[in-house]
Amino acid sequence: MPKAQETVLEIDLKALNHNFRYLKSKINPDTKFMAVVKAFAYGSDACEIANCLQNIGADYFAVAYAQEGVALRNAGITKPILVLHPQPINFKTLIERCLEPSIYNAKILNEFIDVATAQNQTNYPVHIKFNTGLNRLGFSADEIDAILSRLKTTNAVKVVSYFSHLAASEDLDERPFTVNQINAYIAITEKMTSGLGYNPIRHLCNTSGILNYPEAHFDMVRSGIGLYGFGNSDKEDLNFKPIAALKSIISQIHHLQKGQSVGYNRAYKSDVALSTATIPIGHADGIGRQYGNGKGYVLINNQIAPIIGNVCMDMLMVNITDIACNEGDEVIVFDAAHPAHQLAKTANTISYEIITGISQRVKRVLLK
Ligand SMILES: *Cc1c(COP(=O)(O)O)cnc(C)c1O
Repeated sequence: MPKAQETVLEIDLKALNHNFRYLKSKINPDTKFMAVVKAFAYGSDACEIANCLQNIGADYFAVAYAQEGVALRNAGITKPILVLHPQPINFKTLIERCLEPSIYNAKILNEFIDVATAQNQTNYPVHIKFNTGLNRLGFSADEIDAILSRLKTTNAVKVVSYFSHLAASEDLDERPFTVNQINAYIAITEKMTSGLGYNPIRHLCNTSGILNYPEAHFDMVRSGIGLYGFGNSDKEDLNFKPIAALKSIISQIHHLQKGQSVGYNRAYKSDVALSTATIPIGHADGIGRQYGNGKGYVLINNQIAPIIGNVCMDMLMVNITDIACNEGDEVIVFDAAHPAHQLAKTANTISYEIITGISQRVKRVLLK
């Protein structure tokens, strides 16, 4: 692999393939696989990732917002796409681009039916979202009768799935809570299926649900973070390969004397002589100020160089006093050997946040 000559996010489609195969090995052959590619496929490249997954056998895609679905359609994705969190202003666009809404409350149900009716749709596919404990989006179970009677008044829409979302599938201390969610979901599916008189797709599990609750896979699973290489536990992390590597370069080296300071607000004041390297990546690229002042680090020639002083918008400085290196040398922010979730921990956050936060300014490079 050629060394980075600027800040780049390398995306390894072989690793994606590996993660997809591993997740598939955890589910029955007839359980469908929904690939969650919201937020630029967790900060990588939604169109490239979705095209690769479409070719290797993903059945369904999910995005959060309508415009993300439009981008996938423009990139040639023909598989069904669930939009997890649509807003009424986008309902016409959804229908124009064959995007399937998650219907999470009565207002959205009524407004979507109105738009679908006005557009002369019949049996337009919709997904009913139930709240079983996350308390974020979704109907409650006691609204089932009202949903069913509203649906009976129209043939503009048809329920292709109903689903719910687990609140703590990665946390085994919360197993009793999760089992309650699973049971609540089962009760909902029974009532919905008998009311509708047909069998929509049932789905509940995200990545950690797939790994920790095999009894709850139902007809389809939804995976995001696993595809990108994180298993949300030390044990499962070993089975995945992070697909993205964030690399950069040393722009400049400074040798400072005792008493000099580094960066804005003179946040670092040295009581010894030291050497620093300036790296062209900053909080505008997704490495926030919470990584500054000794918390986060980068790797230079395989050694840890802590971030020194405040992270700037376009660059950050690291302490290289004990590292043999030169201007122009490659810098690793994270890669498969130094995974993003470990760096995330230094700022009290999780893999999801650091990888989805890498801004669009950082060039994406595909390794096929
Ligand atoms: C983001 C999301 C997922 C994917 O979760 P992972 O933990 O990344 O696998 C699944 N379902 C819903 C509803 C989501 O919002």
